[in-house]
Amino acid sequence: MTLGNSLSVVNATKYYKKFKAVDDVNLTVNQGEFLTILGPSGSGKTSLLKLIAGFEQLSNGSIMLNHQDISNKKPYERQIGMLFQNYALFPHMTVFDNIAYPLSLRKMAKEEVKQKVESILKLIHLEEYAQRYPEQLSGGQQQRVALARAIVFNPPLLLLDEPLGALDKQLRKQMQLEIKQIQEHVGITTVSVTHDQEEALTMSDKICVMNKGRIEQVDSPEMLYKQPKNRFVAEFIGEINLIKGQVVSVIDGNAMVKVNEDMSVHIEMNKDASKEMKNKSMLIGLRPENIQIARDQTQFHNTIRVRVLETIYVGEAINIKTKMDTGEEIMAKIPAHMSEMIVKGEEILLGWNSKDACLIPDETTI
Ligand code: ADP
Ligand code: MG
Repeated sequence: MTLGNSLSVVNATKYYKKFKAVDDVNLTVNQGEFLTILGPSGSGKTSLLKLIAGFEQLSNGSIMLNHQDISNKKPYERQIGMLFQNYALFPHMTVFDNIAYPLSLRKMAKEEVKQKVESILKLIHLEEYAQRYPEQLSGGQQQRVALARAIVFNPPLLLLDEPLGALDKQLRKQMQLEIKQIQEHVGITTVSVTHDQEEALTMSDKICVMNKGRIEQVDSPEMLYKQPKNRFVAEFIGEINLIKGQVVSVIDGNAMVKVNEDMSVHIEMNKDASKEMKNKSMLIGLRPENIQIARDQTQFHNTIRVRVLETIYVGEAINIKTKMDTGEEIMAKIPAHMSEMIVKGEEILLGWNSKDACLIPDETTI
């Protein structure tokens, strides 16, 4: 089932007086897709969502829903479903009446309302709770009812703004999966806003990383993680080591990057990776979890001898803080059962394969 429409944001700019909160944003969300806008506080996420919903007027650009320009439509004319952190249920209405509200508003026949509400109650696993009041539900159940209310009238688009922000961590994780399941089942096009990278990675088909009102990168969770386009994205999503290097050669998507006189690193990139990288200063991006302890120098494409500065236990893994000869630090994350091999102050050999690192422009040298 696919209910939603495609959404395009075209050259969207929003000024609050002289302050540019959204800066020439271009974004397409395909029908049925779940896109998350991810960025730090103040990066313009909510402003962009409000432009889509119609709560704020564009200073420039347009919003297209199903290829139609809706920029000048009032919020209620857009018929968009919304779920916000503090989008409270009506406390004096039952669960049934809360969900039925958007349908009654649209003057739907009673029998049809009953059918629709009952079917969506089944979907959110709250059939038995129809006659309860919101205060008789847990936080997670209330949020599911709010979600049902937001989609019961078959909106073309669902907007979520930090909908799980008020819930504790455990419940948030569970709700992420539930919302995603419901969204997939209904097939509704969804734009969600969060500052929580884990939430974005769990729920999204595509993530749009925002910073200072601008889009830094739009990609699948996997691509964002493996091929961040710049330093901001690399550091905002997960942990990463960034090591300065000079590109010596790029052949068939394989780059050789010199870190110092004694050390070069091999990196496998997309085949279309530009040859223009040659001789450029770049940053080698290396996720701590992609680094392993090496037996010898032949076990991985790349190995490096480092000194252990510190070990930090994080349950299933240990984070090892190490230092290269050059003085640069490298963090590695290895399975906890290998901890006995690591002694603070001693040297170890770290290794990783060429597909497990990426190259990022070194903005300090541009
Ligand atoms: P986010 O949701 O990413 O935290 P917002 O879109 O809420 O960011 O805000 C982006 C920037 O725009 C912030 O600096 C914020 O202070 C400013 N801003 C948001 N709304 C208004 C407003 N109504 N008037 C003036 N400035 C605003
Ligand atoms: Mg916000």
